[in-house]
Amino acid sequence: MPDQPKIDALRDRPVPPQSLFIAGQWRPAASGEDIGVISPIDGRTITRIARAGREDVDAAVAAARKAYEGGAWSRMAPAARKKVMIRIAEGIEARALELAVLGVRDNGTEIAMALKAEPGSAAATFRYYAEAIDKVYGEIAPTADAVLGLIHREAVGVVGAIVPWNMPLMIGAWKLAPALAAGNSVVLKPAEAASLTLLQLAAICAEAGLPEGVLNVVTGAGSIVGEAIATHMDVDVLAFTGSNAVGRRLLEYSARSNLKRVYLELGGKSPNIVFSDAPDLDRVAKASANAIFRNSGQVCVAGSRLLVQRSIHDEVVERLAQVADALKVGDPLDLSSDIGAVASEAQLAGNLRFARQAVEEGARRVTGGERILEETGGFYQRPAIFDGVTQDMTLAREEVFGPLLAVIAFDDEEEAVRLANATEYGLASAVWTTDLSRAHRMVRAVRAGVVHVNTYGGSDLTVPLGGHRQSGNGHDKSLHALEKYTALKTAWIQL
Ligand code: NAD
Repeated sequence: MPDQPKIDALRDRPVPPQSLFIAGQWRPAASGEDIGVISPIDGRTITRIARAGREDVDAAVAAARKAYEGGAWSRMAPAARKKVMIRIAEGIEARALELAVLGVRDNGTEIAMALKAEPGSAAATFRYYAEAIDKVYGEIAPTADAVLGLIHREAVGVVGAIVPWNMPLMIGAWKLAPALAAGNSVVLKPAEAASLTLLQLAAICAEAGLPEGVLNVVTGAGSIVGEAIATHMDVDVLAFTGSNAVGRRLLEYSARSNLKRVYLELGGKSPNIVFSDAPDLDRVAKASANAIFRNSGQVCVAGSRLLVQRSIHDEVVERLAQVADALKVGDPLDLSSDIGAVASEAQLAGNLRFARQAVEEGARRVTGGERILEETGGFYQRPAIFDGVTQDMTLAREEVFGPLLAVIAFDDEEEAVRLANATEYGLASAVWTTDLSRAHRMVRAVRAGVVHVNTYGGSDLTVPLGGHRQSGNGHDKSLHALEKYTALKTAWIQL
């Protein structure tokens, strides 16, 4: 845990205007345009990022292709690539606090969480794939005697990675590290609201010896830069984390261009299911609050629907409200804050709309939901609990991506399963019970990429993260992520 004076020493550090990183060079957008970066902490402009256009994306893809074909990285021995990747991890670790503070100034995540989840995870991710890449073998098929069937696993070429503003360094690393480890070149597009740490990561990669053109970072508007990457004829794979609306478009862009592979990590409306035999209701209340309120609910796997068995409903809601009310919302760079700022004014406005609508549609507001600390100029909201939510209400169905919890009561296991699966999403979930058989039945019955049992959240790089149904089709983390960035090739050899 860092100490407050070290954080305070970094909080007002001037940030120079940021350029694009293309072919190993820092350069402004071809148009010369830029975008102001507003800090959600106080609404002030911290710096400016380049607002790239299609010609910048063309230059980045050309640089990536040239680097890939040149082979300085793609044909480097895996053990040598590993050394560079480990130096990248070390570079992130050496600047962890600096990166975390910069990221918090950009997107408002509470600093303790940011430090662990951003540089901490990013460095661990580079180490994981660095260590993995010289241990993943091809295969020999069990053919008839007169032939030899070799199955090679190759890099795909140029990867386009488009990432969101929540946890950009962690999610960026989940895409970059396996893609680079496998020998690909990458064109990375950070979100407008959180580009700064990923630009720093590009500098760290260059210092670590990643050859020029292997990683290119192009900032700017999603509808311009993101679309230009996604429709590009020379991008082979698109790895995306973000909203369903944009994910849907990316599939269209692929169909309209070169049928590039598209991997989507999308949103969720994840059920957190508490049975009356849950092990410890205080732990349930704390973990459930954490599951929806940390990072102001801006977590893809947030437990945004609390399904609670009717016999313990009142008690759980009461304890949860106590936990929520005790959470200190405030300056995310202050270690005493439990919850920081909402990432942008637009996001906050959306959250407030959802809160109003929940009441209009008949939910009971137990606590929270209002904007606070407006005098700071920043974007802060009290964590909110809405009880009596029914399946027809917007709050039961739509992802808010804010600190708003919908509480829904159920009577028995069958109803719990039905409600849990009554969503188009399928990202995360949790089940609280001391009945081992029920826990296993629920793991099978809930349609989601992860089912936590007697906990919510928490995992590591050894297990995949990915959605079922409309929460996506790819996996970040674990060795499975390498599948996205590699292609199988068969050599059929007559002996
Ligand atoms: P978003 O979809 O608005 O933006 C994501 C990225 O796509 C940004 O870089 C944006 O600039 C870009 N983009 C926007 N329009 C585009 C277009 N037309 N073409 C190409 N790119 C475009 O999402 P967001 O608001 O940044 O992030 C929040 C969303 O991300 C939530 O839905 C959340 O659940 C999801 N998310 C999912 C995961 C996961 O692992 N499944 C993790 C984190 C966040």
